[in-house]
Amino acid sequence: MQFCGKNALITGASKSIGADIARVLAGYGLKVWINYRSKPELAEGLKNEIESQGGKAAIIQFDATNEEAFIEAIATIVESDGELGHLVNNAGITNDKLALRMKTDEFMSVIDANLKSSFIGCREALKVMSKQRFGSVVNIASIIGERGNAGQTNYAASKGGMIAMSKSFAYEGAARNIRFNCITPGFVQTDMTSELKEELKEYYLKNIPLGRFATGMEIAQSTAFLLSESASYITGEVLKVNGGLYM
Ligand code: NAP
Repeated sequence: MQFCGKNALITGASKSIGADIARVLAGYGLKVWINYRSKPELAEGLKNEIESQGGKAAIIQFDATNEEAFIEAIATIVESDGELGHLVNNAGITNDKLALRMKTDEFMSVIDANLKSSFIGCREALKVMSKQRFGSVVNIASIIGERGNAGQTNYAASKGGMIAMSKSFAYEGAARNIRFNCITPGFVQTDMTSELKEELKEYYLKNIPLGRFATGMEIAQSTAFLLSESASYITGEVLKVNGGLYM
């Protein structure tokens, strides 16, 4: 696949889906900027793995909810590479609780981690990409942002917000050839889903037409497609990668 830029920043990339996105994009020849928040050893391990396979990788530490740090990180990347070709807003958290018991702080913590961080990333990428007149962004939303879920009012609102926000960014970026799209994964085998109760996992498995959870690599390949020039006429789109769970 061809890409309009030569590099990509992936937030929350030291493990799970973010790490697989970094692996796949590096495999397509992009220099990947691996963002991590708290586990330098994982980021270092991933960088070494990518480089040992002939890929290009760099590590950049920041908390994606920290506006100043996010802005500084993008400036560092542009200073180093002369551009920001691609951004994947992948960093995200859950903090599940039934709405009746959810404190406002618990609601807002997930909005900040998932939606606010993605907004900062999209806005700052749009500034840089507007000057370049090229670039593409993928936001990793969720099936929960499309269909809602008991116990996840905060997460559903954050991911639904990311979908609507991406479409709005797509309008603003289009005149300058900058595309914004979303991936909405269903259930993926990662630390996030390992916390689910066994009976809940079994329930979902029964209801997924393809009969299994996704791998991180399957999310990563779809992300690479939307970022790439193979998707050059796709913007404001939401690509469901959910095994048919929500069609
Ligand atoms: P994960 O295993 O929990 O990994 C999340 C990553 O995000 C971690 O590396 C974490 O870093 C990082 N992160 C969280 N908050 C951050 C922040 N403020 N700044 C920088 N990094 C931060 O999650 P995952 O399953 O790979 O999920 C990745 C994305 O896919 C998330 O947006 C999630 O909502 C979405 N998604 C996942 C599933 C699924 O089934 N797994 C389904 C739909 C959507 P630290 O370890 O340093 O905190």
